[in-house]
Amino acid sequence: MKAIEVNSHGGAEVLALAELADPVPGAGQLLVRLAACGVNYIDTYHRRGLYPRPLPFVPGTEGAGEVVAAGAGVDPAIVGRRVASADLAGAYAEFSLVNADRAVPLPDDLGDELGAAAMLQGMTAHYLVHDSYRVQPGDSVLVHAAAGGMGLLLTQYATALGARVIATASTPEKAELARTAGAAEVLGYDGFADAVRDLTGGEGVAAVYDGVGRSTFDGSLASLRRRGILVLYGQSSGPVPPFDPARLAAAGSLSLTRPTLTHFVVTADELNRRAGDVLRRVADGSLSLRIGARYPLAEARRAHEDLENRRTTGKLLLIP
Ligand code: NDP
Repeated sequence: MKAIEVNSHGGAEVLALAELADPVPGAGQLLVRLAACGVNYIDTYHRRGLYPRPLPFVPGTEGAGEVVAAGAGVDPAIVGRRVASADLAGAYAEFSLVNADRAVPLPDDLGDELGAAAMLQGMTAHYLVHDSYRVQPGDSVLVHAAAGGMGLLLTQYATALGARVIATASTPEKAELARTAGAAEVLGYDGFADAVRDLTGGEGVAAVYDGVGRSTFDGSLASLRRRGILVLYGQSSGPVPPFDPARLAAAGSLSLTRPTLTHFVVTADELNRRAGDVLRRVADGSLSLRIGARYPLAEARRAHEDLENRRTTGKLLLIP
């Protein structure tokens, strides 16, 4: 099969097209012929070695397609069904393996591309607004990078729960997308904390959803109301340096959490509940999924370069 392989950690140039043996499903596994693979920021952390993985590896964890074989112990009735997963063992490929209990059947009315695009960022947006901080009707919340893959979904989920979303975005085009997703106000990054105070009558927001990290961290803390919570869920601008927890007390008994999806989809029941909510909303149109760009598998390098250079909006897909 054709796949993208990483043989050494580094920039996007280490993403090389390779011809690899087709994977064979082991006990409890499915072999999926992928119709679309999701590109996620975490793939760039794996590529760089920020989150180390043994070399060589096929990057990517998200995708959707048809089950073409099942390993021992798996009901063979699944063969021929379409599934999506955020736990594929190497998604930048024509075929990938996944544990059967980490794959979710796709509804008939949802195409493979939307299925692939929805899983990782959709389930993340779901746990961020329900579990990391439970958004309440009437809350003001700040969502950074609101035109990104995560940002557009978070803005829609938080708005649907009755929040007033204040967003950041770097260009007028991105600001317009954030507004379309439901943001009531869209700010640039310069001086955003002061602007958030002005927009909230001096009080600050109940929660900040920050996937940008290093460059926004201080401003995010300064945007919170008394006893507000900073949900730091990523680091697209780089990791946040070491930090003195006493700052949380001084700034108003704030909370800080640094969640990751793995711990919010631990059981099959939790996975199916979150994925089910996301896929149902995408299928009925109440959650709009913007596929910002599709790239042929061989152009994975260009996808990473675009993502890391802030040239993208919404979800990026690789098409094998
Ligand atoms: P995005 O589509 O959001 O792309 C990143 C965006 O971040 C850019 O478009 C840009 O938007 C903004 N940004 C701000 N500063 C920088 C910078 N210095 N370099 C690059 N981008 C910058 O990516 P994703 O939706 O895939 O991921 C967003 C974040 O969410 C990532 O940090 C990712 O790791 C995290 N994440 C965390 C999960 C979890 O469970 N914890 C799960 C999924 C994602 P703009 O130009 O408007 O500033």
